[in-house]
Amino acid sequence: MKRVAISGAAGFVASHLCDRLLSEGYSVLGLDNFLTGAERNIAHLAGNAAFEFRRQDVTLPFQVDGPVDYVIHAASPASPKDYLAYPIETMDVGSAGTRNMLELAEKKGAKFLVTSTSESYGDPTVHPQTESYWGNVNPVGPRSCYDESKRYAEALTMAWHRSRGVRTSIARIFNTYGPRMKLNDGRVVPAFLDQALQDQPITVFGDGTQTRSFCYVSDLVDGLYRLMLSDEAMPVNLGNPREMTILEFATVIIQMTGSKSTLERKPLPEDDPKQRRPDIAKARRILGWEPKVVLEDGLRPTIDYFQGIISRG
Ligand code: UDP
Repeated sequence: MKRVAISGAAGFVASHLCDRLLSEGYSVLGLDNFLTGAERNIAHLAGNAAFEFRRQDVTLPFQVDGPVDYVIHAASPASPKDYLAYPIETMDVGSAGTRNMLELAEKKGAKFLVTSTSESYGDPTVHPQTESYWGNVNPVGPRSCYDESKRYAEALTMAWHRSRGVRTSIARIFNTYGPRMKLNDGRVVPAFLDQALQDQPITVFGDGTQTRSFCYVSDLVDGLYRLMLSDEAMPVNLGNPREMTILEFATVIIQMTGSKSTLERKPLPEDDPKQRRPDIAKARRILGWEPKVVLEDGLRPTIDYFQGIISRG
């Protein structure tokens, strides 16, 4: 049985990745300090003999006993609200956290995968974003704690790869949604669903013409799993290329929830990217991967999940 050590295991994306790895027959060591992750995301794994959990802040030194075949560094605050609340922790987990996880991979002779972000492209001037684009990031703006931390994590990963020969991969994850997102993490999917399900005004930031592309979590996890098994060291975009404006997205949410919500304009956050869509030609070519779940199909289980949370109070 191959063993995977994964940080951020109680987070939205990594908890789904744990499920996938376990279903593929891996044993999993999950690490998380619950800064923004939640115990309930992995509660269903408590009785699973192949899953081991350790409460661990990966920015601090730690040891792992026994063999490890894959190391996945997925820990980080990931929503603008969370990383604005924890800017220093965000920078620490991208820097010290990445270093500790890379050292673990090197020591164990394991393959390493880091979950980076489309924020590496900042407010992009190239559209759609290809991996060869270097980005347009404000290094000192409010989002810089996240963007630059992830860019540093990518650079550190490449340094380890080039100078120490560690096998590494870098996923650039675009907007992803699905069950286990935090209702109050401020991101557009939970925010709009929370508001729509309670017939509250839907808060559109700016004029709503900024665009995003939403990938369902099972598609993303499939891409991450394929990348984990691949030999590709340079970054790979993972996301859904269907792009829409935030206003269009609000309309889809209102229709699908049958909500009576109206739209309410709020100021656009500083440095909010105006457009974002992944070019996934590389992932198609080297991983044989592309998203399969259309937005409406992915929103149904997501709506059910948030409905359950709201009705439980
Ligand atoms: N957004 C919005 N209303 C909200 C939350 C977000 O209009 O209540 C917008 C936000 O300004 C951004 C987009 O939705 O343009 C996606 O925001 P999110 O925080 O989900 O993630 P981002 O892609 O900016 O990291």
